[in-house]
Amino acid sequence: MTAFDDLLAFERETLAVSRVAERQFWDQETMMPEGATEQRAEEHAAMAKLLHARRTDPRIGEWLAASEPQSDTDRACLRLVRRDYERHGKLPEELVAEIARTTSLAHRVWVDARANEDVAAFLPMLEKVVDLRIQEGEALCSDGSPYNALLNDYEPDACSEDIASLFDEMRPRLVALRGDILDHPPAPQLVGHFDKGAQLALSKQIAQTFGYDFARGRMDMAVHPFCSGSGNDVRITTRTDAGDPFNCIYSSIHETGHACYEQNVDPAYHLTPLEGGVSMGVHESQSRIFENQLGRSEGFSAWLFSEMRAAFGDFGIENAWDFYRAVNRVDRGFIRTEADELQYNLHIMLRFDLERALISRDLKPTDLEAAWNDRFEADFGYAVDRPSNGLLQDVHWSEGLFGYFPTYALGNVYAGCLFESLGKAHPNLSTDLAAGQLTAATGWLRDTLQRHGRRFTPVETIERAIGGPISAEPLLTYLEDKFRILYGL
Ligand code: ZN
Repeated sequence: MTAFDDLLAFERETLAVSRVAERQFWDQETMMPEGATEQRAEEHAAMAKLLHARRTDPRIGEWLAASEPQSDTDRACLRLVRRDYERHGKLPEELVAEIARTTSLAHRVWVDARANEDVAAFLPMLEKVVDLRIQEGEALCSDGSPYNALLNDYEPDACSEDIASLFDEMRPRLVALRGDILDHPPAPQLVGHFDKGAQLALSKQIAQTFGYDFARGRMDMAVHPFCSGSGNDVRITTRTDAGDPFNCIYSSIHETGHACYEQNVDPAYHLTPLEGGVSMGVHESQSRIFENQLGRSEGFSAWLFSEMRAAFGDFGIENAWDFYRAVNRVDRGFIRTEADELQYNLHIMLRFDLERALISRDLKPTDLEAAWNDRFEADFGYAVDRPSNGLLQDVHWSEGLFGYFPTYALGNVYAGCLFESLGKAHPNLSTDLAAGQLTAATGWLRDTLQRHGRRFTPVETIERAIGGPISAEPLLTYLEDKFRILYGL
């Protein structure tokens, strides 16, 4: 056994333990009895401590120093292990456990506060969580910005200043397009009662059509849909609304995109540092291209129209074109997860600016609601009517996920680049989509991107797939072309 072999054997066990810890979160969101909240917080904290001890084990430093890589793959493993080792070594064990314990409790407080429209009930917990994450950011960055340190947990190598200028470039064109659309008559809407069981059955069928392997996954219900796991155990969740079948269908397609990325990583990478998606932004590019560029395309929506007519009968839409318009309806809404693909980015920009201000202590948690409501009205043109439509809508901040939001919009930018390249590689894509045939698209994503796992950096992963530099232009052009036709602008 070489030092490198010892290192990988140790990492394999750490990864296995971290998968168990991740399944505790899946369980908390899907199955856990409510009375178990406090006990689960202790379980999370214990797992976080155990993992932290393994990730900071001094033997890792010795193995890293003695390892002699034989290939580029070995070098990629060492780069990732070294980065994690250095990162975890900067964090005191007590802080790690305290973050796990507090965010686990905060989650339950957030669920209740959201149900009761009670911001005041959530604020003390939010203050605690913000303070702990600032401590973490400060421990991680010796001189730079604590926010960037937190951001790098989700998007390695990214920097918030670059993201801010990318968003500045996007915002005026998105706002202009949104304004033009809302000046026009609205797109049609589905009406009727949609059986929840039939919604789930159709969503499962669509997940399989997109390549999700149920032999290595499952679909359950959750308040806030998510994907969890990697390798041979990748689970997705969804939710149903009897009046709005698109909620279930499109959140299922979205999570299927995440899940297929995990399922399609080269099996040789399982339980090695190369397993899993390379960053949240790249992950989101996979869920977004599934959900939007493919799932909300004219071709796929024509196929979906006939499937839905078969499942639900008449729902007030006469033809495939009106259905395509309904699928891409731009509405005055409040909820990020229900936003169309255009306004979604404006939701992210709002959260990105507010959370940067929270972490830099320029904004106090007690002033957050007012700041949120002011910014929302400025960007969207109307006022937030209740907290569950405002700052209590998202799970992220209760879980301490600061630095996570911008990766959603980065994912949209990456998806725009990937879709442009996919279209060049497969000129007959729209014909395939109209036949409910996804294999050309999903196969291209698997072969050019997904199979590489964490082998390359996030930017390398995208640039290798598209054969050039990343830019917001393909996304903006795609949105402008699509919505101008849809709304006759
Ligand atoms: Zn996602």
